[in-house]
Amino acid sequence: MTKFSYISHLECPKCNERYDESKVQQLCKCGSPLLVRYNLKKVKENVSKEELVNRPKSLWRYHEVLPVKNEEHIISLGEGGTPLEHLPTLGTKYGLKNLYIKDEGIIPTGSFKTRGASVGVSKAKELGVTQLAMPTNGNAGAAWALYASKAGIKATIVMPLDAPLITRKEVYIAGGDLHLINGLISDAGKVVAHLIQHEGIYDASTLKEPYRIEGKKTMGYEIVEQLGWKVPDVILYPTGGGVGIIGIYKAMLEMQEIGWIEKGKLPRLVAVQAERCAPIVEAWKKGEKESVFFENSTTCAFGINVPKALGDFLVLEAIYNTDGCAVAVSEDELLEAQKHVASLEGNFICPEGATTFAAARKLREQGWIQEEELVVCLNTGAGIKYPETVDIQGVQVLQPGDTLYAQSPQDSNWRD
Ligand SMILES: *Cc1c(COP(=O)(O)O)cnc(C)c1O
Ligand SMILES: [Zn+2]
Repeated sequence: MTKFSYISHLECPKCNERYDESKVQQLCKCGSPLLVRYNLKKVKENVSKEELVNRPKSLWRYHEVLPVKNEEHIISLGEGGTPLEHLPTLGTKYGLKNLYIKDEGIIPTGSFKTRGASVGVSKAKELGVTQLAMPTNGNAGAAWALYASKAGIKATIVMPLDAPLITRKEVYIAGGDLHLINGLISDAGKVVAHLIQHEGIYDASTLKEPYRIEGKKTMGYEIVEQLGWKVPDVILYPTGGGVGIIGIYKAMLEMQEIGWIEKGKLPRLVAVQAERCAPIVEAWKKGEKESVFFENSTTCAFGINVPKALGDFLVLEAIYNTDGCAVAVSEDELLEAQKHVASLEGNFICPEGATTFAAARKLREQGWIQEEELVVCLNTGAGIKYPETVDIQGVQVLQPGDTLYAQSPQDSNWRD
């Protein structure tokens, strides 16, 4: 009989210790995040990629390589199956003939954090969790609070005071136990760590539970399936905690094992960060295996304001093993790219996602990316969650009865 999930165990990528997946597990004894392992040989024998075609357009179509064993435990709001679209006009401007957007702005809760929340909360429910806590820069807390409410799990969420206002409201409306901190996500993390120690509740912090990666890795499966089971040449990812890029790398290796893609060529993975919070870029430039805490970090791309990521060594490994790189972009560059994408292609992307377009342009200019290469930029969320990043200038207020004259395209904001 075929199984719903081929999960086999949890494994430490640092010391190789194995853990039982049927019990609640957090970090390895050695302090490293744990990764989920599957019986991929059995998946190969039982699931063909042709069979996937008829399944619903949801991340759960890949359920054999997801950790939830009983279908009844799935908490879903219709996540996954986001568009992968060619951007010809922007591509021409940037000198990239095959520039694509994977648009996670079109997903419940308005950010790709939903993928991690759906899989993470579903598995928590399967494990009998009734209460969880997490620090967040906003989007993860919003997604986890909403999915937790659907699952009947209580969620305690701690976020910086200046996290995007909408994410605070999402937690609140979901009935989450919301706390604000006058500091960074790292400070929020300390508050949560203390709470966990003293209350014994489930720690849903980034990478402190093994299942969020599994939700995010489905972006990798989707990109490849949407390209007709071909891997792109380059994938650019806005990197904060790095869960998405670790997940996409994991997805590529799993698909090779299953035989859904050929062994050999992997996409070159690019970690993109903001100049004012670039610990991974600094580490990559020096060829280091781990990053150093980035002091006084700040950026309008809030989701990637992470001064030190627990999984930094896994992000760097993914970059090194795929001949990728790490790039930092300035606030001006990312805001300009955000404007280009909206005014040339119609996608109102989030500032985090915009960093990947600014980086693609830079890497093309430097010759690191070739004109013909297939390049996928990951937009991780909806621009409409960040109204404050758009600065409207020179718009006149009319009075009833005023007359309006047509402007020539050169004078206006048209396709800037
Ligand atoms: C959290 C977040 C990121 C960074 O995600 P990681 O996978 O943790 O690196 C990027 N963009 C947005 C919109 C986010 O909310
Ligand atoms: Zn370990």
